[in-house]
Amino acid sequence: MSRVWNFSAGPAVLPAEVLARASDEMLDWQGSGMCVMEMSHRGKEFIGIAAEAEKDLRELLAIPAHYKVLFLQGGATFQFAQVPMNLLGATGKADYAITGEWSKKAAKEAKAYGDIHIAASAEDRAHTYAPAQGAWRLRADASYVHYCSNETIGGVEFNWTPDTGTVPLVADASSHILSRPIEVSKYGLIYAGAQKNIGPAGLTIVVVREDLIGHARAGTPSVMDYKLQSDADSMLNTPPTYSIYVAGLVFKWLKALGGLAEIERRNVAKAKLLYDAIDAGGFYRNPVDKPDRSRMNVPFTLADARLDDAFLKGAQERGMLQLKGHRSVGGMRASIYNAMPVEGVQALVAYMKEFEQRHG
Ligand SMILES: *Cc1c(COP(=O)(O)O)cnc(C)c1O
Repeated sequence: MSRVWNFSAGPAVLPAEVLARASDEMLDWQGSGMCVMEMSHRGKEFIGIAAEAEKDLRELLAIPAHYKVLFLQGGATFQFAQVPMNLLGATGKADYAITGEWSKKAAKEAKAYGDIHIAASAEDRAHTYAPAQGAWRLRADASYVHYCSNETIGGVEFNWTPDTGTVPLVADASSHILSRPIEVSKYGLIYAGAQKNIGPAGLTIVVVREDLIGHARAGTPSVMDYKLQSDADSMLNTPPTYSIYVAGLVFKWLKALGGLAEIERRNVAKAKLLYDAIDAGGFYRNPVDKPDRSRMNVPFTLADARLDDAFLKGAQERGMLQLKGHRSVGGMRASIYNAMPVEGVQALVAYMKEFEQRHG
């Protein structure tokens, strides 16, 4: 068996220890004689698995008791509609910050449900920075403020939490959740599709302040109503059981290695290695303002785009996959999520130096 260094933006690398454990338990989960995939979601085994996953997630993120944790489906894209359907409330107004492709999509989707105002935008410089707090034009009567705390495509990450006063802050944290400690109480709602930094696709996690639920607009489908899902422990209908199980194993993996403070330390070290290599000469380039560079998604271009194919081919020969940049940005993108070991980043950096020596 051989494993590659997988730099995919998502679905993405999972910890080898987690996959090995899932494999050990595949045919017989802890003496049950069943695979988790085969279990009823109403049975005591699976209810225990889901409850433990929630408990471990609460511990990792230090989620206060007055926040609900929901295990939903539909991906982050589903939340682009579900958030306004549930949170717009009587005012029908929400403010959005635009810092890249994902926040742009979120705002566009929300427009079908209410009065959406663009409070901040990084469009003037091709989404290569996080607009400073002073540049945000917030409405005091908005029901919430939405932003994307890590733009997966452009590689722009907020290293600070926007201050929205008493207006609830909503974050699409899909591509950096669990990569660093955060203060959940500063948010009204945090959502994340699982397939970047949590586990298999199919699961979407929503952490929401209790008082914000129960106000869904008329006509909201039951499965999209946070309150109904919360009252049913996210099992209004069949949840993505196997994805929840693997996510639970990832939570245990994170706890065992020392929690979010330790994974943040590792992520800072990995990102520094890669950005230092990019900044070392003029051959590679990352366009994002330094304080706003993502620790998780690192786009970079080569001095000559005609070398892109050769770079990718050489990377593939060395067991490094999925480095091609998003079609809207071009060049390369290395996603170095929690589960990417530092050795993978070291291998990439060594190859970048070798390639530059040959072609620079
Ligand atoms: C991947 C991603 C999405 C879309 O996720 P889906 O699960 O495909 O809906 C949305 N926002 C961010 C920040 C992402 O990284």
